[in-house]
Amino acid sequence: MRHAVDLTGRVAIVTGANSGIGRGVALELARAGAKVVVNHRPNEDSERRGNEVVQSITDAGGEALAVAADISQEADVEQLFLTASAHFQSIDILVNNAGIEQPAAIQDMTLAQWQKVIDTNLTGQFLCARQAARAFLARAPTPPSDTAVGKIIFISSVHEVIPWAFQANYAASKGGVSLLMQSLAQELAPMKIRVNSVAPGAIRTPINAPAWNTPESLASLLKLIPYGRIGEPEDVARAVAWLASDDSDYVTGTTLFVDGGMTLYPEFRGAG
Ligand code: NAD
Repeated sequence: MRHAVDLTGRVAIVTGANSGIGRGVALELARAGAKVVVNHRPNEDSERRGNEVVQSITDAGGEALAVAADISQEADVEQLFLTASAHFQSIDILVNNAGIEQPAAIQDMTLAQWQKVIDTNLTGQFLCARQAARAFLARAPTPPSDTAVGKIIFISSVHEVIPWAFQANYAASKGGVSLLMQSLAQELAPMKIRVNSVAPGAIRTPINAPAWNTPESLASLLKLIPYGRIGEPEDVARAVAWLASDDSDYVTGTTLFVDGGMTLYPEFRGAG
């Protein structure tokens, strides 16, 4: 089957690409022709799974490089971009995907739980976006081109708009990502850098396994999804690939919800 978008020769960094949505995005961008930097956390298990993603890409004839970095650490992020550009010469696309959850009732939430989620989901995305902007700006203003000199795609969540009891840290981080993304889009558009978000609904990955890994929990989850199925990493990955491609050249500052209608308030269907 012909691939829907063409990213031939483009270089993409995908954070947290050893698992779930990030893994799906890395494989999809590679299928579209991109060279992919597969970022993973600096621990043995993440490294092994990052290397497996690289292997899948190279087995299929693509190019990829696994790079360890904790994206909540400034020095790690700088090193990630240095390693990526030393290996692939340029960087064209950042997919800011790495994220975590640490649920707790607000009265029990420790400062450490609050901080860890904000450090990863919001500060980590800031650090990577800043480094990508620096890389893109360093090669802008080469002759005015018809298309963007770089693209940043945040993986946000439906919880950038849906409040989430017992996950106040997570919802606050994703709400922050929404205005971070829009502010950067406004700031960087004149320099021909496009910045957008993809906001997944419920996607079948390890982060939310308890929400889908028993028939009871899945049935309860499906009540929130008008389209009647849980999402797969590929659903998100295809949206990311489109935003990373020149097919979406006039799109910036937008959140694309990939959620089977979760943000449509399905409980109001026939009620209210
Ligand atoms: P996942 O747990 O499978 O993947 C998250 C990845 O991020 C893992 O590879 C993890 O190692 C990595 N990571 C975490 N902290 C990191 C750090 N400090 N440095 C580098 N990597 C780090 O979960 P997922 O569902 O694939 O989540 C990916 C993104 O999608 C997250 O931002 C998450 O908030 C978002 N999201 C997921 C869903 C869903 O239903 N699965 C819904 C909405 C949004």
